[in-house]
Amino acid sequence: MNLDRLRRAVIRAHNRWTGRRGGSFSGNEILILTPRCLQYSGCDRNVVADSGNCLRCGRCDFGGLAELAKKHGARLEMATGGGIALELLKKPEIKAVVAVACEKEIVSGLLRKGRKPALAVINLRPHGPCRDTRVDPAEVEAVLRRLLKEG
Ligand code: SF4
Repeated sequence: MNLDRLRRAVIRAHNRWTGRRGGSFSGNEILILTPRCLQYSGCDRNVVADSGNCLRCGRCDFGGLAELAKKHGARLEMATGGGIALELLKKPEIKAVVAVACEKEIVSGLLRKGRKPALAVINLRPHGPCRDTRVDPAEVEAVLRRLLKEG
């Protein structure tokens, strides 16, 4: 079994376990956290400073996540590194997280995140690692719904 396969198995087990505790958060208590490489490499919008700067032009999936965050009232942040992601997680207004990243970053983050519930979605890498990565917003929404309280 290669390392990423092993990590995927760990992530699946973690998501199953954490998902059982879910269903108790408001949208604005949940952070959708994305890696820098999700933004289209030719885009000059500063979505790291403010996800609201995304024009939702469709050239990358950050726009779809911005729509999703708006629909559910969730927060959306793009982290430029693992340390920054952990700082965002520490904010008291954040109670739970949906993290999009590669297998390695997710497992590293899960080991260091502390007690807040975090569900993970593994990104797709059609251009190789760390560049123009993709994620299906519908998959992120399905995971987000596991953390949201009913009604
Ligand atoms: S969807 Fe947003 S982040 Fe992606 S390329 Fe368009 S403006 Fe840039």
